[in-house]
Amino acid sequence: MSRSYVIKPELGKTYPFISHGKGIYLYDKEGNRYIDGCSGAVTASIGHGVEEVAEAMYQQAKQVSFAYRSHFSSDAVEELGAKLAEWAPGSLNWTFFVSSGSEATETAQKIAIQYWQEKGRPTKNRIISRWMSYHGITMGALSMSGHVLRRKRFVPLLEDYPTITGPYPYRRPAGMSLEAYALECANELERAILRIGAEQVAAFIAEPVIGASGGAVVPPDGYFQRIREICDKYEVLFIADEVMTGVGRTGKAFGVDHWGVVPDLMTLGKGMSAGYTPMAATMVTDEIIETITKGSGLIMAGHTYSANPQSAAVSLAVLQYVEKHGLIEKAAEQGAYLLSRLQELAEELPLVGEARGLGMLCGLEFVKNKETKEPFALSEGVAAKIIAKAFEKGLLIYPAIGGIDGVAGDSVIVAPPLTITKEQIDELIALLKEAIVSVQQELKDKALIG
Ligand code: PLP
Repeated sequence: MSRSYVIKPELGKTYPFISHGKGIYLYDKEGNRYIDGCSGAVTASIGHGVEEVAEAMYQQAKQVSFAYRSHFSSDAVEELGAKLAEWAPGSLNWTFFVSSGSEATETAQKIAIQYWQEKGRPTKNRIISRWMSYHGITMGALSMSGHVLRRKRFVPLLEDYPTITGPYPYRRPAGMSLEAYALECANELERAILRIGAEQVAAFIAEPVIGASGGAVVPPDGYFQRIREICDKYEVLFIADEVMTGVGRTGKAFGVDHWGVVPDLMTLGKGMSAGYTPMAATMVTDEIIETITKGSGLIMAGHTYSANPQSAAVSLAVLQYVEKHGLIEKAAEQGAYLLSRLQELAEELPLVGEARGLGMLCGLEFVKNKETKEPFALSEGVAAKIIAKAFEKGLLIYPAIGGIDGVAGDSVIVAPPLTITKEQIDELIALLKEAIVSVQQELKDKALIG
């Protein structure tokens, strides 16, 4: 039998076939129900089966689905662009639409390099990123990513971009205050720029909250403010990769809003269309657009599906739904409750080293020894076992495995739709606890933990 994809390795069997979804629940064709505790890939932020979005999809499809961006704009595209500009901080008023987060970060990379070329400073063409990061799977995006497991096979093909350490409060040097740690990590950017030479550096890219490579790692206050100062001082553009954090996920419109920092470029994806259609974007400031407009007049990026009216109409309906139902505020409120319940697990269960997160983007890190924070070897596959066990019990959680350079990286992301209720969070936590306790027992039986 031919198949569209592979065996699900951690289950040792094929994937179940999806039937339908409603709210936070997904149902397979055998009638099993799953709590979507991670919104798929931190994507389905408004929940499944929303009628208004289906209706917008249908109406646009009847009108026209595809019109090429070099031939036409459309009401849907312009309204979506205006809505994003209204939400975005500072003068991030311009949006270049693409279809995936990887395309969005790679487009940001290209626009940053092009901006300096148009300014007559073509040597500013390197991007600094962080070891704990994930910016996408295509070669340019992967070059900027530190996710060790995802890079490993392709290292010879990747651009050799300089990287710095990202803030990882749980594993900061013993005795160091969060304040001092924030500055120490941010100042590493300054040292990197000075080493390379500011005339070689186009931009610095970072996720406001580290997702797939760390498991919802939140930086200490002061970190991004200092990053912004350093970028300004050395004329380095700051790219905020908001693919996972953007559009309300963290309890503010965008992750950077928690620290009042305005990036020069901002990438969106995932929650921007909540999974109803492939849709992503790169937003840029007035200054960047004016420079390119006065120069070549053409952004040298784009894909066939960029700015198609169908995806724009769907994404617009998603943003309107978020506004209408106050989902950003809900993400902040219910996210705080979710984190408090996860913290209870961290207090209670020896396997859970830390519970962390911001808004509805939370994570758990698993450790061998809570006192010493000793991590498991990746080969022990502890997070993968917990994910598989949760799946069996009807709960989906997302891996943040193998992202960190040999230090740790055995974490999961818990990021349900922003619509989740308190009672549903309790239901999620009960299943999650069962899954962790079961794997914990298995490890004890094998004498792998005390
Ligand atoms: N940037 C971040 C922060 C992400 O979390 C991801 C995906 O997980 C990407 C970029 C890549 O997005 P996509 O998988 O849509 O290409």
